[in-house]
Amino acid sequence: METTLIIGAGLTGLSCAHHLGGREYLLVEKTDHPGGIVHTTVRHTKYGPFDCDGTGHWLHLRNPAMRDLVQQLLPGGLAEYERRAVIHLAGVFTPYPFQANTYGLPRDIVLDCLLGLMRARHPEDFGLTAPAEKPRNFRECVERLFGEGISKHFMVPYNEKLLGVKLEEISATYADRFIPRPSMEDVIKGALGFSREALGYNAKFVYPRHGGISALPRALAAAIPTPPRYNTAVTAIDLATRTAALSDGTTVKFGHLLNSMPLVALLNMLGDPLPADIRAAADKLRATTVWYFDIGVRGPTPENGDHHWIYFPEREFIFYRAGSYSAVHREAAPEGCRSYYVEMSGELGGLLHRPAELRERVLADLRKAGVITADDEILFMELCSIPHAYVIFDEHYEGTRQTVLDWLAAQDILTQGRWGGWNYGGMEDALLEGKAAAEYITAQ
Ligand SMILES: Cc1cc2nc3c(=O)[nH]c(=O)nc-3n(C[C@H](O)[C@H](O)[C@H](O)COP(=O)(O)OP(=O)(O)OC[C@H]3O[C@@H](n4cnc5c(N)ncnc54)[C@H](O)[C@@H]3O)c2cc1C
Repeated sequence: METTLIIGAGLTGLSCAHHLGGREYLLVEKTDHPGGIVHTTVRHTKYGPFDCDGTGHWLHLRNPAMRDLVQQLLPGGLAEYERRAVIHLAGVFTPYPFQANTYGLPRDIVLDCLLGLMRARHPEDFGLTAPAEKPRNFRECVERLFGEGISKHFMVPYNEKLLGVKLEEISATYADRFIPRPSMEDVIKGALGFSREALGYNAKFVYPRHGGISALPRALAAAIPTPPRYNTAVTAIDLATRTAALSDGTTVKFGHLLNSMPLVALLNMLGDPLPADIRAAADKLRATTVWYFDIGVRGPTPENGDHHWIYFPEREFIFYRAGSYSAVHREAAPEGCRSYYVEMSGELGGLLHRPAELRERVLADLRKAGVITADDEILFMELCSIPHAYVIFDEHYEGTRQTVLDWLAAQDILTQGRWGGWNYGGMEDALLEGKAAAEYITAQ
């Protein structure tokens, strides 16, 4: 039987290898470690090591089989946390989610939010008529779901900062898939201070007790029958001979192939010229790049320095979110120290070309919000990027992605995971998709 080739030792590839039930495979990984996007960098300082996960990576395990798997893999166990996430707007911190917690914001904003939702739900009471046509894009969806106030103050500016594009460019179906319809009761109660914040909004998550989020892919890589072949990239794939060229100069013949590297990279590696419609489709798949600073500080924790993460919808703050590894998991930073990840996307006013200025701007904005203080000792501040961070669900997305996936399926190539499948998925989805690929392969 020909071997199964798995490209990438992120959670998708590792899970596939784990669930192949002893069937032979070759798992190739271009870097020197498992985990892909899920990776903890240990930053050493004179006060001790800091575990930095490449922005927050918190586990939501809803599938019982995946929860059991993760629990078995991590003998140190999992710590469970209740989310402490807030929004910073008009100088005020309110709990997440925004729409259910406007109490405490300036009264004109609260009024905008309440009246906006009521107008959107009951236009006739305000002498308005409900729009006859379906919403044309994500912006219109958000305005109809949440009303003008919640859209204007949070949903539109926050999502535009995160995605780095105008919401008119995002397809209306994005809202159907990812944005739950807010309940009128939650919005009204939240405006009057009777928040039901903990209900139903992914309020709890788990995290490895020791070793950062890397503990999970490391444990999975140690548990699979054949370890990944590290420092080895697939460089070309020949569909006619079902062979792949590797960066170590060897060629492997494969029966099944599971890809988890970015879909566009896979298409670029297929030997023959791609059919014109597939090439055209591939050219339309878009993703945002996220830039983030890992920051380590020492000093007493200010009141606003201890939130798990903070959403910043306002343009006067350059980042869209600032999270704290150590506020969630105390062990992530040494005693007396704290650690943050500060996320940005888009053009950033050209500051990416002037990193020293960008750094000063980020520190100034963090001080303005009270996350760090002027007395904090800055121990490190590292700028990193995630080239593929969020899929852009524009008007072409669904059709083009499906065209590409159908064509690959016809070539008997499996492609899964966040970027292999060019989709919005979390760590549990990656584990599940790797498992589903293994089940497909073993059923052949
Ligand atoms: C900013 C951000 C925050 C996130 N936060 C969370 C969170 O809090 N909770 C959550 O559940 N999920 C979160 N996720 C999602 C989660 O990280 C992903 O869903 C998951 O890690 C995807 O795993 P994967 O194996 O599909 O892909 P990847 O991790 O991208 O793995 C692909 C692997 O392929 C390798 N590779 C690439 N090219 C080649 C080649 N030519 N040859 C060989 N190997 C190659 C790469 O090195 C990599 O190891 C977040 C993602 C991002 C971007």
